[in-house]
Amino acid sequence: MRTVLITGASSGIGAACARVLAGEGYKLLLCARRADRLEALRNEIHAQYPDIDIHTFTLDVRDNERVKEAINSLPSEWQKVDVLINNAGLSQGLDALQDGDTDDWDRMIDTNVKGLLYVSKAVIPLLKESQQAHIINLGSIAGKEVYPNGNVYCATKHAVDALNKAMRIDLLPFGIKVTAINPGMVETEFSEVRFKGDKERAKNVYNGLVPLSGLDIAETISFVLSRPAHVNINDLLIMPTAQA
Ligand code: NDP
Repeated sequence: MRTVLITGASSGIGAACARVLAGEGYKLLLCARRADRLEALRNEIHAQYPDIDIHTFTLDVRDNERVKEAINSLPSEWQKVDVLINNAGLSQGLDALQDGDTDDWDRMIDTNVKGLLYVSKAVIPLLKESQQAHIINLGSIAGKEVYPNGNVYCATKHAVDALNKAMRIDLLPFGIKVTAINPGMVETEFSEVRFKGDKERAKNVYNGLVPLSGLDIAETISFVLSRPAHVNINDLLIMPTAQA
């Protein structure tokens, strides 16, 4: 039975991955900052899959000391991780660079780039214990292209794109697979976070097109994880059909 560690499991894509992978028998290590949301997800999954082992813990991926402490203090039965899903991330503000808020920039860089690095470094020793180790990095179409006012968010996701390639090279000697999943628009709490709680503005982002769902991304990740040992999907772009 494989164990998956999911960052940002409290909503959206991370929570959808937890639900889908529970259905496939994975043991779940779930973390995020909101303990109540993790608890609710654990209860929901247990109601459907009572036999699945779930361990939740709060984690702010920006805090390197806490990341190290949280991973080092996992109970002994959770000290082998087969799959790490580096999912925690956010966009904040959608402004031209000259109008941007530097606190927003720090939040995005610290979470999307430094957080991904801190968690990866802490978890790689546990992945080395696995014969089927795999890291999934949540990139974005914003890591492939730059769109108006996307500046710093796009830069962080371009960094994820580069780190995904670098990790694959560095981890090759250990047989650890590395994959970037790069979605277009996915309807989650992402847009509301970006517009700091402005639900109306968040909804208008989709502008008549049908966005992807967290489930679409989770099912894609499940497919990637189910490939045979000799197959690695390095990089995958997944878009709503109607998104330009
Ligand atoms: P959500 O806002 O629904 O989920 C984001 C998750 O990240 C939450 O669980 C949140 O949990 C967690 N998170 C944010 N900051 C931190 C932090 N400092 N430490 C730990 N966890 C944190 O958005 P999505 O599910 O859509 O986003 C998931 C990933 O997908 C992100 O990396 C995003 O960039 C990427 N993505 C999303 C797209 C979209 O259109 N939705 C498109 C392309 C990529 P909590 O607040 O409890 O800590």
